[in-house]
Amino acid sequence: MLGPRQEAQSALFYDFSIEDHVPRDHVLRAIDGVIDLSGIRQHLSEFYSTTGRPSVDPELMMRMLLVGYIMGIRSERRLGDEVHLNLAYRWFCKLDLTDPIPDHSTFSKNRHGRFRDSDVLRHVFEIVVAQCIDAGLASGQRYAADASIIAADANRQQSTPKADWNPEAIDPNEAPRAVREYLETLDNAAFGTASPVTPKFISHSDPASQWTGARGGPAYFSYSTNYLIDTDNAVILDVEATRSIRQAEVGAVKTMIDRVQKVHNLMPERLIADTAYGSGPMLDWLVEKRGIAPHIPVIDKSGRKDGTFERADFTFDAENDLYICPGGNELKQYRRAYKTPRSGANKDETIRYRARKSDCDACALKERCIPKEPQRKVTRSIYETSRDVARGLSQTEQYAISRKLRKKVEMSFAHLKRIHGLGRLRLRGPCGAHDEFILAATAQNLKKLAKLAPNPIRTRTAV
Ligand code: SF4
Repeated sequence: MLGPRQEAQSALFYDFSIEDHVPRDHVLRAIDGVIDLSGIRQHLSEFYSTTGRPSVDPELMMRMLLVGYIMGIRSERRLGDEVHLNLAYRWFCKLDLTDPIPDHSTFSKNRHGRFRDSDVLRHVFEIVVAQCIDAGLASGQRYAADASIIAADANRQQSTPKADWNPEAIDPNEAPRAVREYLETLDNAAFGTASPVTPKFISHSDPASQWTGARGGPAYFSYSTNYLIDTDNAVILDVEATRSIRQAEVGAVKTMIDRVQKVHNLMPERLIADTAYGSGPMLDWLVEKRGIAPHIPVIDKSGRKDGTFERADFTFDAENDLYICPGGNELKQYRRAYKTPRSGANKDETIRYRARKSDCDACALKERCIPKEPQRKVTRSIYETSRDVARGLSQTEQYAISRKLRKKVEMSFAHLKRIHGLGRLRLRGPCGAHDEFILAATAQNLKKLAKLAPNPIRTRTAV
């Protein structure tokens, strides 16, 4: 039977509760059951004036921002529209049907002002990490680290080749915010001083972003988000924004390990990472300075392709500080005793061990060792002891397990881009990248916490 036509009509009075219309299994309801933003007001209180118009509740702004990053809504203008229309979003933000939605400009004003001054985004991130640790989701025994390149909001057309770039010619008073941030981070190890090499192009709108062709395709401007995760449940223990170059990313891992120890009192037994983190100084920092087992492939360029003996064919005698060559002769750093002991390290942080020319001249293996040189030299990194520790670990069963665990950090990046929509940054400058990365990581941890350590579903009698 054909029913009556639906006519537009509005009732005079409604008996309506948003609570009843949010599905029991909605992700925001689960997150609402675990999130604790009660300390935000106190954290921010000193950044608000005691006079003037009352502000928008900072907890409301934080809840709205989290809705954006949890549901992959990147634009704050669109976020306002979505919260206005979507009952579940309204419910999560504790807004009634008739409550006004804060204007999108409120977010940028607070973000550039008191949110950054108070570092409230990191404060919220650390609260959520602490909750994950308390819930037993992260034991802090095994860490995995990696970086992922995220495109910056900058394009090649608005850029300058490095030969024409002169940061000293920029007037900070005239420059836009992202350019001022670039000038402020010129001495920062994660940005300006990460590498002495100037990139091929520098963006006008976001000069701190890195021109990179790391993905093999066309080059573009980008930042890197660096994650330090606990491999138990892939909880993100720390996140850091850097330029997209290896030196900055390696430095970020050191920063994050020390910060997690300071904030959460955790120090891992091992760090799992890929070859990019396998340089001598990094391995030495882990082994000697922090006592962490590096489950990391060693960067080793001592191999040879022409069939001649490589360094691995020489045996190191640590007690006497010399190498024994395949012909049974000694390669030494010095053959005479100096009054003042010398470090012997070269600028490239290696020590050179040389064979005697007379030994090589008389050697039957010379063609396989040095067909074109008068005598053999072997270099040894000053970090070789730590590199040997990493090489030794790479032969263990635990290392094979670590290789599989490393995939968890790659999965976190895949979720970040596909589910949370962070394929390209919306905000510019190092601070913009920091804000976006930290909010996205908070959203990822909240989803994990709600899924793996759920509290009883919270219902509200009044919103
Ligand atoms: S050539 Fe020299 S270094 Fe090489 S195996 Fe012979 S003696 Fe040793």
